[in-house]
Amino acid sequence: MSTTPIARDLAGVTDARHLTEDQQALADAVADFCAGEAGTREQRQRLTNDRTTLHSDALYRQFAGLGYAGAPLPEAYGGSGGGAVDLCLILEESTYGRIPIEGMSVTMIVAGAYERFGTEAQKTDVIGRIAEGDVFAIAMSEPGSGSDVASMRTKAEVVGDEIVLNGHKTWITCAKHASEILVIARSFTGDRKHDGLTMVAVPTDAPGLEINPISTMGGDEQCDVFFTDVRVPATQVLGEVGGGWGQLVAGLNVERLIIGAVMLGLARRAFDDALAYVREREQFGKKIGSFQSLKHNVADLATELRCCELLVYDVARKIDEDPSRLLPREASMAKLKVTEVVKRIALEGMQMMGGYGYATEYDMEAYLRQAVVSTIYGGTNEIQRDIIGMTYGL
Ligand SMILES: Cc1cc2nc3c(=O)[nH]c(=O)nc-3n(C[C@H](O)[C@H](O)[C@H](O)COP(=O)(O)OP(=O)(O)OC[C@H]3O[C@@H](n4cnc5c(N)ncnc54)[C@H](O)[C@@H]3O)c2cc1C
Repeated sequence: MSTTPIARDLAGVTDARHLTEDQQALADAVADFCAGEAGTREQRQRLTNDRTTLHSDALYRQFAGLGYAGAPLPEAYGGSGGGAVDLCLILEESTYGRIPIEGMSVTMIVAGAYERFGTEAQKTDVIGRIAEGDVFAIAMSEPGSGSDVASMRTKAEVVGDEIVLNGHKTWITCAKHASEILVIARSFTGDRKHDGLTMVAVPTDAPGLEINPISTMGGDEQCDVFFTDVRVPATQVLGEVGGGWGQLVAGLNVERLIIGAVMLGLARRAFDDALAYVREREQFGKKIGSFQSLKHNVADLATELRCCELLVYDVARKIDEDPSRLLPREASMAKLKVTEVVKRIALEGMQMMGGYGYATEYDMEAYLRQAVVSTIYGGTNEIQRDIIGMTYGL
């Protein structure tokens, strides 16, 4: 049985992205790169160390060398001047094409923070390095501060012309691949828990910093990060000391969009693989896709997928029109919907493939392992529903 991805037009998913010629060319070029590097199961197994590693430093450098890491970043700092639509296309197509570059998503969240709040010197340095393929992690969560992230306790105290960090961050994606971690930590206590937080970039080779990978059902790309009297120059502060919460909130729309785009790519891939399977597999002398229950399931999933495309690219276009808009309702809706749909498609894709969907011989079980956690990170879907409810005055 083949699991070769089928062409977008054959998959029955109407392209709701409404791309310009240049955008389509970008999407096609990324898809071609992925087909060359990770088109076969053997290539994917080698690149991911038998599906335990979700980020390959060498491949990501190669990808960046072709201009894809810099494509959505400003030209003045080494990028190509694209925007949110280009970023979504790159993330969606690279996830669909199964190249292990998990570090790109978190790095782009950091790039956005530097675009908004960096000094000229910081933008030239950091965005330039990101365009060349450096990975940057972002550290907010702590063992005691997950959904209630503003209650964080890790300290970033100003001591003379240095910042001294002490504490423990957890779940930090790709910290072990990063050259620097953008840490959000407490410089002082204010009236509200949101006061006094500071963004500070910490090189991963700083004395006193320890990074330990966490073993999960999806690999070991998330890390515990411990800070013991870690000292960095005050020039490593991004934006204002104590202004970190507002700076964080300013980037949440892009963070949710990034998750939406990545999971859209995974949803399309799981859908296409399931469709290819039910078109070929025969039982009772018929293609199983011809049974009404499977046919209707495919129809429902295709419809959900189209909703996801429309949501993701609508938010991306709105951000490109005015990057200062926060879009709490629309960005949370995109994150909520796409992550629920990708989970459903991977789960039902497995059901439609029967026992073979459960076997590691096929990719569906890996899609499911990647999909299930997307409703947890980036703000759980319960929190996204709270935010959407709040925009209706509730
Ligand atoms: C794979 C992965 C990657 C991650 N990457 C990063 C990263 O790069 N950087 C980083 O800083 N963090 C990262 N995180 C952390 C992530 O943001 C948190 O896991 C997430 O915010 C949830 O926090 P928690 O796990 O502590 O769960 P908790 O906050 O303890 O939540 C547990 C449950 O309670 C529910 N809940 C909590 N509060 C409420 C409420 N008010 N109303 C209704 N329900 C509620 C939640 O929805 C959830 O179902 C990552 C996590 C994972 C799993």
